[in-house]
Formats: sequence, C-alpha cells, structure tokens
Amino acid sequence: MLRSSEDAETLGGAGIRPTRQRMAVMRAIREGGHRHLTPESFHRELGDAGLKLSLATVYNTLNHFAGAGLLKRVGAGDRTFYCTNTEPHHHFLDEVSGRIEDIPGLQPEVIGLPPAPEGATITAVDVIIRVRRDR
Ligand SMILES: [Zn+2]
Repeated sequence: MLRSSEDAETLGGAGIRPTRQRMAVMRAIREGGHRHLTPESFHRELGDAGLKLSLATVYNTLNHFAGAGLLKRVGAGDRTFYCTNTEPHHHFLDEVSGRIEDIPGLQPEVIGLPPAPEGATITAVDVIIRVRRDR
C-alpha cells in the first residue's frame, strides 16, 4: 500500500491525476529500475505483467509523463526513447543495435553554441555520441 501511495504522490506532484491505470504504469516504470523505454518494448513488458493496454495508450502515457518531467524523452537515430533517469545527462547510441545508454559520470560540455533563432530561447542541448562496439 505504501508503494502505491508513493506512485500517487509522484503523479500528483507532477500535476497528473493518478488514475488506477496511470498508477499501474508508474509502478512498472519504478519497479523496472533505470532503463530506456520505447513504446513498443514497454507495451510488451506491461502485457507480460498482465497489464493490457493498447500501444496507443502506452505511447500517450509515456508522452504525458515525459511532458510532466517524470521521464526524459530522447530522440536517437530514428527512434524515440523514454529515459527513466530524469537527472541531466547525455547518451551513447550504439550504431549497430540502435540502443542508447547514459553517459556515466562527468557529462560532456558543449561550447560554441550559436545564438537561438530570433524570438527563440535555447531550452536544452542533448548530446548523443554514436559508438560501435569493438569486436
Ligand atoms: Zn538516459
């Protein structure tokens, strides 16, 4: 019980109404630990755990949570990942597998950023370093 009230608090604190379905999704995110979800992989994971939601619902829920700051949305290659680590950090992208992982420790710094286009403000810089595993 303590655990589910923790999820309700997390959702409420992010301004999301804690419905049963959203709490179940939040619980699955929390219990799965740190990882990078795709709507497809998470849809399968939820289904295996007995939570039958449509892929569209999973997709919308991940976007909703990301918009509220509970997940970090990362576009890498032709895919979008939802990172459960909401601390500021950047990513490695494995060019062969298409997987991403957090860059651990000291984060790269970007220098020489151009000014934002007129009437715009830079809100974030996401660094993706492409890697290939040595055989
Ligand atoms: Zn990440």
